[in-house]
Amino acid sequence: MLDENWFTEIVPGAESAFSLKIKAKLHAEQSEFQYLEIYETEGFGNLMVIDGCTMVSTRDNFFYHEMMSHTALYTHPDPKRVWIIGGGDCGTLREVLKHPGVEQAVQIDIDERVTRLAEIYFPELCESNNDPRADLKFIDGIKWVKDAAPNSVDIIIVDSTDPVGPAEGLFSEAFYRDCFNALSPNGLVVQQSESALFHLKLMGEMRDAMSNAGLSHLQTFFFPQCIYPSGWWSGTIASKAALNGFREADSANKPFETTLYNVDIHKASLAQPEFFKKAMAK
Ligand code: SAM
Repeated sequence: MLDENWFTEIVPGAESAFSLKIKAKLHAEQSEFQYLEIYETEGFGNLMVIDGCTMVSTRDNFFYHEMMSHTALYTHPDPKRVWIIGGGDCGTLREVLKHPGVEQAVQIDIDERVTRLAEIYFPELCESNNDPRADLKFIDGIKWVKDAAPNSVDIIIVDSTDPVGPAEGLFSEAFYRDCFNALSPNGLVVQQSESALFHLKLMGEMRDAMSNAGLSHLQTFFFPQCIYPSGWWSGTIASKAALNGFREADSANKPFETTLYNVDIHKASLAQPEFFKKAMAK
């Protein structure tokens, strides 16, 4: 039996839960937007929880951050300007800035407290925050994209919380239309798209909304993520222009270190499960 020494996230509707054994509760606060908690765990290092949902652990965040960044950046022909909507723990920003061709990376998180806590409890994720190409803004990403000039960005990475609360509008057709307008002609959005096992309906709705907004070339990729519901997560790329694979040679010769991502992992992540193909074809 689990006792009070365990943090547990119950997944509504999936009749399942995920638990981590806790050494100490390091912090808790209600920010202007959400309830933030930091735990020290026995096996996963530090853990950030937002509104009861696991966000980032020291031990396994590289799966998510590397897949959400490098998969998209090696799909785009020549990404120079990248926005990260959400992403307040700064792990995605760190990965994006590993690409020498990136000239500007703007992270737009609604909640400055997430970043301030990440600086204390996940300093390794924040090690590129002072890169001259990085720009950290603390405003609503929905408004940021709505107010953007046409052709002002090459890749928009939506590294958000689940589609409830402040992130709900980040999964809407209106938001994707604003992304379409802000993107350059080869531009693309990549968004965390939850679990195919638990959130198939949401994935279908999200892909429809992207297509309806003109981001009609879609590619969902899959990766393990132990601390998220079902342990199996996904990202979806939605592009203005046709997608012709990815820059395999550049990926194979990437000039930086990663823990998970490489050219073979990229290829493997694009394999589409049979049940997913059938559901999305409907
Ligand atoms: N990797 C995580 C996941 O998939 O569960 C996401 C981590 S990141 C910490 C999520 C961030 O999205 C949070 O810091 C939250 O403040 C931010 N966020 C939620 N809604 C937002 C919005 N409308 N605009 C900008 N940031 C938003």
